[in-house]
Amino acid sequence: MYMRYFSRLFSAMAGPRPVVLSGPSGAGKSTLLKKLMKEYDSIFGFSVSHTTRNPRPGEVNGRDYHYVTREVMQASIDNGEFIESAEFSGNMYGTSKAAVQAVQAKNLICILDIDMQGVRNIKTTDLNPIYISIQPPSMAVLEKRLRDRKTESEESLQKRLQAAQVEMEFSKEDGAFDVIIINDNLEDAYGRLKQALLEEINNVKKTNSTS
Ligand code: ADP
Ligand code: 5GP
Repeated sequence: MYMRYFSRLFSAMAGPRPVVLSGPSGAGKSTLLKKLMKEYDSIFGFSVSHTTRNPRPGEVNGRDYHYVTREVMQASIDNGEFIESAEFSGNMYGTSKAAVQAVQAKNLICILDIDMQGVRNIKTTDLNPIYISIQPPSMAVLEKRLRDRKTESEESLQKRLQAAQVEMEFSKEDGAFDVIIINDNLEDAYGRLKQALLEEINNVKKTNSTS
């Protein structure tokens, strides 16, 4: 009881409430979070995950992901350095404690881009984020966006489409997400994302202006 009280107190002291963006691969999570970080660069900070997948053209090690081998990642997980980790589409992904602490130390709202296994696992921790699901208007549109992105092999694309079905089912579970945003028109979806985060954004602005 006291332990839970103190761990809540400490997580509240750790800074503003984090935000989890989840949803099918290709739904637009990276696009939306990049827009958010560009408009509010002094408000949000990205939790840089680790992954064993290869970098895509344009991705930067340490900014988009920490790209590591399976051996290195497994050793760090075994060493207790991760809040959560998961296997997705043939690769490992995970959120290190250091990734979240680096953002919270700057008093920024920490954004995590994680799959549904990550959502389930984060729910067992004290992180207490706002859970937002970004969804495509349809599976056909999702497939087109993934194909047009030209980042996936046919095999990876098929795995992601299969995972997308499961992610969509998960999002229908009671209490899985606080907010669901259908990313049809990008500007509309971005507007709804900002609206969902307005209170947190204003809280951080207020804290920063008085400190
Ligand atoms: P995720 O991070 O969820 O995997 P991305 O942000 O990479 O998805 O988006 C997948 C692709 O769809 C990208 O090529 C992106 O430019 C495009 N995209 C994102 N949102 C929209 C939208 N509202 N309309 C059209 N294309 C979009
Ligand atoms: P991508 O390879 O397209 O960058 O990411 C594939 C999937 O992995 C996406 O659903 C993304 O949200 C998820 N992902 C990225 N980082 C993490 C992480 O640290 N933990 C978990 N559980 N999923 C992640």
